[in-house]
Amino acid sequence: MSQRLAVTVLGATGSIGASTLDVLARHPERYSVYALTAHRSRDALLSACLRHQPQIAVIETQADATWLRNALRAAGVFTDVQYGAEALVDVSAAAEVDVVMAAIVGAAGLLPTLAAARAGKRVLLANKEALVMSGALLMDEVAQHGATLLPIDSEHNAIYQCLPAGLCGGREAARSQEQRLAKNGIAQSGVTQLLLTASGGPFRGWSADALAAVTPDQACAHPNWSMGRKISVDSATLMNKGLELIEACWLFDARPEQVQVVVHPQSVVHSMVAYSDGSVLAQLGNPDMRTPIAYGLAWPERIDAGVRPLDLFEVARLDFEAPDDEAFPCLRLARDAMQAGGTAPAVLNAANEVGVASFLDGRLGFGGIAELVARVLDACPVVAATELDAVLDADARARHEAQVWLRQCPSY
Ligand code: NAD
Ligand code: MG
Repeated sequence: MSQRLAVTVLGATGSIGASTLDVLARHPERYSVYALTAHRSRDALLSACLRHQPQIAVIETQADATWLRNALRAAGVFTDVQYGAEALVDVSAAAEVDVVMAAIVGAAGLLPTLAAARAGKRVLLANKEALVMSGALLMDEVAQHGATLLPIDSEHNAIYQCLPAGLCGGREAARSQEQRLAKNGIAQSGVTQLLLTASGGPFRGWSADALAAVTPDQACAHPNWSMGRKISVDSATLMNKGLELIEACWLFDARPEQVQVVVHPQSVVHSMVAYSDGSVLAQLGNPDMRTPIAYGLAWPERIDAGVRPLDLFEVARLDFEAPDDEAFPCLRLARDAMQAGGTAPAVLNAANEVGVASFLDGRLGFGGIAELVARVLDACPVVAATELDAVLDADARARHEAQVWLRQCPSY
């Protein structure tokens, strides 16, 4: 490779951000770090800047930016420090940038992710909430501006690797949303089903009654993956799999009924694609996000990710079972929201974000998250989600309805 790719890492201090920086540091001849961003974790951003010396660092507040600038100057590092939401958009769309790792958690990642797509970047999408909220918009921006969208979520990365070329937004640059909807999605390539694997989370096999008393620390203790707290709770409620179902529909032009969720407790098969001739292709590996991150960074080549080789004798067995929709209603809520279309997934996502934050703060019980999401979905009208304003309005309305319900709810 003659020229290094310049990378912006949005959410550099998070779990995906740290794994991305680990892979980048293994290949200094291929990548340079253009910008690193964080929300409030200024100490973590300082150490990342000292190590990777980006051209720009972005943090939320002016006060933290001043602190960071002074700390970097004192260490002799002259990174330009900026702050606020607009700076996130700027470092995602800057002409100097080739690759944007979208690893902010939640709706806060939407605008910079859209900006990266609009600027025609290679977008490595970890921030699934952005796609859930604005699937039509984001896929359109990718198509219209010749961006390349590569899924980093391990399941979607696995599916991407098992699909024939041409079935992800980024591979067919000139496809409009209408063209995508008019064609028969994945079925045209002989694909009959996407099999989305789920670990089942820390509470696999628990009854709804037993789940009522679980604590945030229990919910965040994932058996196989080490992740940020929000996605850990989503994995425990199975809302993560619901969001991923919606994500798969947008990425691969699938209908919700073409996506089957398969609980697979070992998290070794990261997902599968079934074809009309009876073939089922799977991607396997140790549960380590550096594999899909390295795939996205090097695509279409392969590079070392620092991941331990898979030892099948150590794994010994692979189990598969159906998800329990009764104890974990979030999966059904997400499927229904995708069927309803329009702004329903944005409402689902916003209500879930409020529910998870309230659960982590100890203000809402575990079962309350699904109840809150169901109430907010009932309370919010579904409108078309083809304009950004409609998506942002739906997000704001859902957060408002969630707060109204929380104030009335006895466990709040
Ligand atoms: P995390 O909580 O560890 O990190 C989140 C990052 O986003 C941090 O750098 C934080 O500073 C930044 N951030 C948070 N709120 C922000 C805001 N309002 N404005 C700007 N920046 C903000 O989260 P994570 O586990 O790394 O997950 C990041 C994204 O990747 C999520 O969308 C998650 O669903 C997705 N994802 C994560 C994993 C995983 O293994 N962790 C796997 C698949 C997908
Ligand atoms: Mg996943």
